[in-house]
Amino acid sequence: MKDGLAYLTIPAFQDSGMVNHCFTTRIGGVSQGIYNSLNTSDDKEDPVENVHRNLELVCGVIGVDYRNLVFAVQTHGDYIRIVEKADLGKGISMPNDINNTDGLMTNIPGIPLITFYADCVPLFFLDKKNKAIAVVHSGWKGTVLEIGAKTIRQMKDVYGTKPEDCLVGIGPSIGPECFEVGQEVADQFAESFGDWSYIIKPFGKGKYLVDLWEANKLMLMDMGVPESNITISGFCTKCNEDLFFSYRRDKGRTGSMSAIMELR
Ligand SMILES: [Zn+2]
Repeated sequence: MKDGLAYLTIPAFQDSGMVNHCFTTRIGGVSQGIYNSLNTSDDKEDPVENVHRNLELVCGVIGVDYRNLVFAVQTHGDYIRIVEKADLGKGISMPNDINNTDGLMTNIPGIPLITFYADCVPLFFLDKKNKAIAVVHSGWKGTVLEIGAKTIRQMKDVYGTKPEDCLVGIGPSIGPECFEVGQEVADQFAESFGDWSYIIKPFGKGKYLVDLWEANKLMLMDMGVPESNITISGFCTKCNEDLFFSYRRDKGRTGSMSAIMELR
């Protein structure tokens, strides 16, 4: 809590002293009604001046200039953008051409990256050795596409990242007791994860519960990220109505939280 605004940070990232970051909650903003109160997405009926004020408030708390934020237009795909200086402010101070993108990465200090959530899994990456970061939107589709593993591969190619030097934060999302899916989605997980089928629990006829936190964690460990480098927040967005917006709980009529991170 700071200045009446509630937000989450990852202890290991905080301890590194290398980044300004947070995952937002719904507490401490100026939006009204279903967006009460810290909606951070401008892709809603919430007036854009409220959204910008909310971003200014939350960025102020973590020491980031909100006018420099770089937005991704997310589509539940697996494309990860390498963000450069020229992208500064795209989506807030400049028109955005970063379309069809679900992850942002950079090794340039002072470029704040932002991605949006209302049940999907936020992934935070920090390569402490090579000083590079990524924020990645991994909903169930992104998880099936293994966007988390793809992030590690791309960080390796672009920044020379070694998985063992990488810290990862798995933020609040719809939790393992709440993410109910049908046969078709369960089949996609089974196909993607093979013998990791224990992330899927049968739950009545043709229904399953999927553990997105464990799925992302196992995927990253499979890439070589040590278990001790991975932090799972354990907050379910659907269960904690006072803290989070939830697309499923609110039947689509809701605001968005965001994952924000910049290299110092
Ligand atoms: Zn829940």
